[in-house]
Amino acid sequence: MKNGKNNEFRPTGGGSAGKNAAAGRETRENRENREPRERRENREIREARENRETHENRTPREMRENREPRGGKNPPQKDSRVRKNTFVERDKNKNGGGRDKNNADGRKDTYVYVLDGNLYINLTNKCSNGCSFCVRNERASYYGNYLWLRHGDPTAEKVIAAIGGLGDIKRFKEAVFCGFGEPTYKMAELAAVADWVHAQGLPTRLNTNGQGNLINKRDIVPELKGRIDLVNVSLNASSAEKYQPICRSMFGENGFAAMIEFARLCKRNGVNCRFSVVDCIGEEEVAACKRLAEGVGVPLYVRKYITDS
Ligand code: SF4
Repeated sequence: MKNGKNNEFRPTGGGSAGKNAAAGRETRENRENREPRERRENREIREARENRETHENRTPREMRENREPRGGKNPPQKDSRVRKNTFVERDKNKNGGGRDKNNADGRKDTYVYVLDGNLYINLTNKCSNGCSFCVRNERASYYGNYLWLRHGDPTAEKVIAAIGGLGDIKRFKEAVFCGFGEPTYKMAELAAVADWVHAQGLPTRLNTNGQGNLINKRDIVPELKGRIDLVNVSLNASSAEKYQPICRSMFGENGFAAMIEFARLCKRNGVNCRFSVVDCIGEEEVAACKRLAEGVGVPLYVRKYITDS
């Protein structure tokens, strides 16, 4: 299977064969016309390199047009410590799942799993954050459940069928929307599954990064009312400056502000909401988070940091 996978991604010969065929049709005249241009470009590149060494910093085009380099002769250098926002790739489910994400061929994606007497629901791998501590950076599974979805996000029907396969769900304490992604990316599925779970008599909880309004470009709080019995917002830090380097929201520091506003809207709309932090952030930071939560008017839940999974 592994070889089969490799074959799947191996570039086919078509592209290069096509290029060779075109080269074969090239006339001598074309080649002669092209060669001086290539030589000229090589010279320009060589000169550009030499100029860079003498701090002139001009591109070949700038040299040709005899222009000043963009940003002046000494443009600011890029800081290699600043990480590129890799959200585009995250959105395509490419930068998670750890090293084992393509292992265990033939395994089924996990839409629902059971932990600590709760029923957990994994709706998506999309996330607006790229938290440095996220389990999915390291592995495709969580306590043996493959939450890295190799076959796409499930429909509400697939999730409901998976829950139905577990038998009587009244034995669980609650149904929690929490997996390897941000559940509010899938509002339609979340609503349908929450309604179904409620109809079976089970309470619901949403674990969220609180950026659902930015993600959906609308206020989603009214859609949670009556469907979600507890919204748990992962606060993670007491300020945007502290949050962003750890959680790396695709919305920049606006992600933190939107999360606070989201919690405020939940409270205002009568949706039961709390913030949560892990205890390893230090007493001072926990105290600062508590003050922030009090300001918003929602409780703060301090939970133990889980190291093994
Ligand atoms: S918000 Fe949650 S799912 Fe998203 S990167 Fe952070 S820990 Fe992972």
